[in-house]
Amino acid sequence: MSADDSDSAAFQYQPITQLLVKVATRCNIDCSYCYWFRDATVYKKPKLMSSHVLQQLLQRIEQHVARYKLVDFPIILHGGEPLLWGVENFHRFADACENISSRTGCEIPVAVTTNGVLIDDEWLDCFETRNISVAISLDGPAHIHDIHRRTFQGTGTHAAVERAARMLASRDIGVMALAVCNPAYPPAQYAEFFAACGISSYDIMIPDATVDEKPASIASFYNGLLDLWLAANRSAPTTNIRIISDMITALLGNNSPTEGVGHKPVELCTVMTDGTVEAHDVLRIAGDGFTQTRFNIFDHAIDDVRNEPRWKAARDASIHLCEKCRQCKFMNACGGGYLPHRFSKENGYDNPSVYCDDLYSMFENMQSVLESHLYVSKPGGERINVRETLPGTQLERELTPSPPAHDS
Ligand code: SF4
Ligand code: SF4
Repeated sequence: MSADDSDSAAFQYQPITQLLVKVATRCNIDCSYCYWFRDATVYKKPKLMSSHVLQQLLQRIEQHVARYKLVDFPIILHGGEPLLWGVENFHRFADACENISSRTGCEIPVAVTTNGVLIDDEWLDCFETRNISVAISLDGPAHIHDIHRRTFQGTGTHAAVERAARMLASRDIGVMALAVCNPAYPPAQYAEFFAACGISSYDIMIPDATVDEKPASIASFYNGLLDLWLAANRSAPTTNIRIISDMITALLGNNSPTEGVGHKPVELCTVMTDGTVEAHDVLRIAGDGFTQTRFNIFDHAIDDVRNEPRWKAARDASIHLCEKCRQCKFMNACGGGYLPHRFSKENGYDNPSVYCDDLYSMFENMQSVLESHLYVSKPGGERINVRETLPGTQLERELTPSPPAHDS
């Protein structure tokens, strides 16, 4: 059986299980590393999702969750800057999702990813009453954040975003900060800043880059972040750093919940403001129109996109790893890295991640650190490190019962 056959067998068909909805295609700020505006085709889309498209989308969502009897169907409202869609539309959308839930029995958690600049008390009330969780893009302290996240006039946005983050943290709203790693700065500067803002759940994401680029090394940043995560959670679980918990989950052999870590299919579906359906959003870093399909929610059910060649190519690429990854001892935990980071103009996705050396070193360090924290108890109750029980050690012989004697 070829590796591709075994991949197909391992990852069976399943319906689309979450939706990314682009409710606004423009943004009110001008981040230098933004992948969204690298694709000029986004300017051809309507600026905002109309109520006509929204009604059709809601019908398709209900049809989808009922058809597949889904127990939950998370939806992320995204942009551009999704808050440009307006607070009334958020109320309308969340209300309609609640109604679909009560008719079908399917939970539809709604989340939004925002730059936070427009957040005020009216938005906080909306998020709180509608139970909309918020991911706010905030690259840690001002001297890191304002390098990339600026207004169209070139001024930093940090003051406005920090204010919004603190307002979110003060309310009963599920909030996560999303930062992009800048390895020129120590991870402690991010961790200390988020702690001071009252944000206990955050991610520091690997910067987007394709194999055709030469991004800076990230391994020592994330190795340091792992140490901070361990220190912060030593006496009680107080801090969630998503990429660290995802990597540990994957290293322990389980499926990490996010798409960037682990060997599993990427099956995200993106609905644009005009109702067209696209493949994985971040793949637009590969070039103009790279995510476009021929499908839209007026002519097609949500799950139909699975038959679209470009969507299928991205999905298949996420599980069919290159030769080097298939030989790698971290294949299952790493999964070749985040799909867009595997793209090159020459080979498509048939590459290890542009961060391969860093990822290997991060997983190796994590494995070693985890082993150093794992203990077993000897029959007398003494605790010893698990490494001392590894095959061939004296202790392993002591702890392993002798095999039963055979009669003949
Ligand atoms: S806030 Fe998001 S969509 Fe807007 S420019 Fe920055 S990265 Fe791009
Ligand atoms: S560490 Fe490198 S070779 Fe190993 S799975 Fe990840 S990208 Fe592939």
